[in-house]
Amino acid sequence: MARASGGGPRQPLSVKKPGAAKRPPLADAARATGTTRSRRTSKTIGQKPSQRAAPVARSPRTKADKQAIATVVLDRLQATYPDAHCELDHRNAFELLAATILSAQCTDVRVNMVTPALFAQFPDPESLADAPPEAVEEIIRTTGFFRAKAKSLIGMARALVRDHGSEVPRSIAELVALPGVGRKTANVILGNAFGINEGIVVDTHVQRLSRRLGLTREPDPVGIERELMPLFPRESWAQLSHLLIFHGRRTCFARKPACDACVLADVCPSAGIDA
Ligand code: SF4
Repeated sequence: MARASGGGPRQPLSVKKPGAAKRPPLADAARATGTTRSRRTSKTIGQKPSQRAAPVARSPRTKADKQAIATVVLDRLQATYPDAHCELDHRNAFELLAATILSAQCTDVRVNMVTPALFAQFPDPESLADAPPEAVEEIIRTTGFFRAKAKSLIGMARALVRDHGSEVPRSIAELVALPGVGRKTANVILGNAFGINEGIVVDTHVQRLSRRLGLTREPDPVGIERELMPLFPRESWAQLSHLLIFHGRRTCFARKPACDACVLADVCPSAGIDA
């Protein structure tokens, strides 16, 4: 899997005044949100949840504020999850493409339980293109929406054979033209199978964390991706998604995020919320 190259220490973009002393990223990020570790406890200790004011995330005010937070987020999560990676098991681009199609509305763990049998029986685009739908459906049944997914898998394989010499194409435009493939899946393939940082994978975890961290208020994945891209070095885009997904699965849960144990709590404008 492609990893961010790093390219040396980054500086926050929010230090604007010529000659002004540069603040470390943490200082800029904390200033941007007004967030401190004591924020949750200063007024709410001893109160019942029903007595507390409704939690309102303080959003960063400027693009520079967002940039300062983004810099800290990337540095901290890289240090916390140095092995963050795509959790869909695969040996090549074709397998990753099939696994990603199967991962819609399904956990990676569940997908990884069915793909060994799928790839044992249909190891390449040619064999999958000729597969009886019922045979594919039977193997992938537990991933949900199995009829639609079988149709997408077989259609994808046929398109690879017919239009791409049985190879997985390397552009967003060609990938999203395949059955069952949207922009998110295309970004997964480009970033993880080919090391091409064309965009940022925005799944449910990336959506939730980028909003909680105040990096975006966009309601849809395309808008979120558009806002995140300029905040992070391009070479980090594929890894960024893995980092946010790892953090979402281990700490920043959809319900009851573990803010007290979070490495981003001092810069996160949503720290202390009871989601
Ligand atoms: S766990 Fe809490 S502090 Fe950490 S990123 Fe999520 S909302 Fe912010």
